[in-house]
Amino acid sequence: MTVDKLPGRYLKRAEMYSLPGLVRYKPQAKYRFSAGIAQSKFLKGLKEGKILGVKCPVCGRVYVPPRAFCEYCHVPMNEWVELPGTGEIHTAVVSYISTFRERMEEPEIVGVIKLDAPGYTEGSYEFAGLFHRLCGIKPEDVMSGKAIGMRVKPRWKPPEERKGDINDIECFEPVEG
Ligand SMILES: [Zn+2]
Repeated sequence: MTVDKLPGRYLKRAEMYSLPGLVRYKPQAKYRFSAGIAQSKFLKGLKEGKILGVKCPVCGRVYVPPRAFCEYCHVPMNEWVELPGTGEIHTAVVSYISTFRERMEEPEIVGVIKLDAPGYTEGSYEFAGLFHRLCGIKPEDVMSGKAIGMRVKPRWKPPEERKGDINDIECFEPVEG
């Protein structure tokens, strides 16, 4: 038996914490970890408004996010390249669930952006991609498949607001014209 429509509705975060009897405990867990050599350089690049990739000296693949070793050739990679940031939408999904797992009235569109890595070995850019929010794309364009292949560019936060994380890019938005 399948249930087509579950009874009730999703609770909003504020509603959940207002429930009587609910233990309001927020663990103060703090973590610290090292992003590693390649990822650290990538994150510093974001703070400067640059998308950095690393190129394999053997096969020419450009990796974004960068890695220390080429997974095909098993060699260390040290040649850094700055990508233009433009790319095309490879996959997209209309999400009604927020990062806090709340149901949203207005959906957010997220997807994988295949980044341009011009001048490098053909096919290499298949390893240059980021999962991010997509702005200025209509849900119906995702549902119809029109969004796939659309040209996009990063919308950067102002330099003073950047922290060296992936959210230094607000979203990817269509390239005008
Ligand atoms: Zn390689």
